[in-house]
Amino acid sequence: MCADPIRRFLDERNPPTPCLVVDTDVVAARAREFRSAFPGALIRYAVKANPAPPVLDALVAAGIGFDVAGPAELALCLERGADPADLAYGNPIKKPRDIAYAFERGVREFTSDAPGDVDHLGRYAPGSAVSIRVVLDAPDSVTPFGRKFGCDPAEAFDLVLRAAALGLRPGLAFHVGSQQPDVSAWEIGIATAAKLFEEAAAQGVEMTRLNLGGGFATTHRVPVPSLDAYAATIASALETHFPANPPELLLEPGRVLVADAGLLRTEVVLVAHRSGRRWVYLDIGRYNGLAEAENEAIAYRFEPVGAAGPAGPVVLAGPTCDGDDVLYQRTPYELPLSLRTGDRVDLPGTGAYTASYASVGFNGIEPLRTYCVGRWGDV
Ligand SMILES: *Cc1c(COP(=O)(O)O)cnc(C)c1O
Repeated sequence: MCADPIRRFLDERNPPTPCLVVDTDVVAARAREFRSAFPGALIRYAVKANPAPPVLDALVAAGIGFDVAGPAELALCLERGADPADLAYGNPIKKPRDIAYAFERGVREFTSDAPGDVDHLGRYAPGSAVSIRVVLDAPDSVTPFGRKFGCDPAEAFDLVLRAAALGLRPGLAFHVGSQQPDVSAWEIGIATAAKLFEEAAAQGVEMTRLNLGGGFATTHRVPVPSLDAYAATIASALETHFPANPPELLLEPGRVLVADAGLLRTEVVLVAHRSGRRWVYLDIGRYNGLAEAENEAIAYRFEPVGAAGPAGPVVLAGPTCDGDDVLYQRTPYELPLSLRTGDRVDLPGTGAYTASYASVGFNGIEPLRTYCVGRWGDV
């Protein structure tokens, strides 16, 4: 009925809602595009964006490495055939025994942002590469990290020297915040890094590795810069700030490799009118897959499957008994006035940070089920 493999699967199999369907061929295509936008860079997919095994399989086949946050993600990547040399342990918050486990499994690339963690790395991951994560005075992303991660440049400098003294191989890292539509954020990061590279060199510590993190945005309702636009800004910032010897780059894309590959199908549970507004309750909400609707930060697209005709404003809410399980009450949305219980609504571009964020059984609702289609599919 439909050429798109995701919609074909939904039409033919009509799986229970809500569900996420991911096209692994699209994941592979995004990986190829990303690689050609950043030739020569080491690419480490941030597994937390979507850890479905077929997604990892498509990325392993595309020659992409992985950014893991802990032992479970690490073990999963190895199980799917990733080479430990292509893994980076990018979470600055980690237990000493998890560092030891990663080292024992062959991981030699870490990120750190505090003296205690650098010391743990020196002890449990001797000789490894460690990128010191610096916090930037950059524009806020749609989902900013706040002050949880990264140290200021002066402390980063101390940590670089500390890491070198412990026999680690220091580099620098930054992360501009997820869903970052402002390409200038990377310019600020690269300028900050270049200064630190120079200062460290003056102390006899030659750094070679710069980790530019993730943050590349994907389009929902508002268009975002193209991959080429990000790449062009990054290339020109590197030319400006590292004119003599450009660093070896490491990139940790998450969302941008998987978001467009996924479509979430949901069903209308109830339509009700409250204080003059039309509320549409869906079987998907903040606790079973749309966590990123918190503060209405990410505004997904909602496409009715059958319902048509004139549209009117709606408040969108999830199915649970939690008062915070409201998706959008400030962001304007319109859906057909004919929309009824049982109608299906599709959310395209939802392959990232949906299934991986679903709770395991709040109100007895099971975590968002993922079906993968395409060459690496599991259905
Ligand atoms: C989550 C995360 C990423 C991926 O971020 P995206 O915005 O999805 O690209 C990359 N690096 C680290 C350390 C992360 O925590």
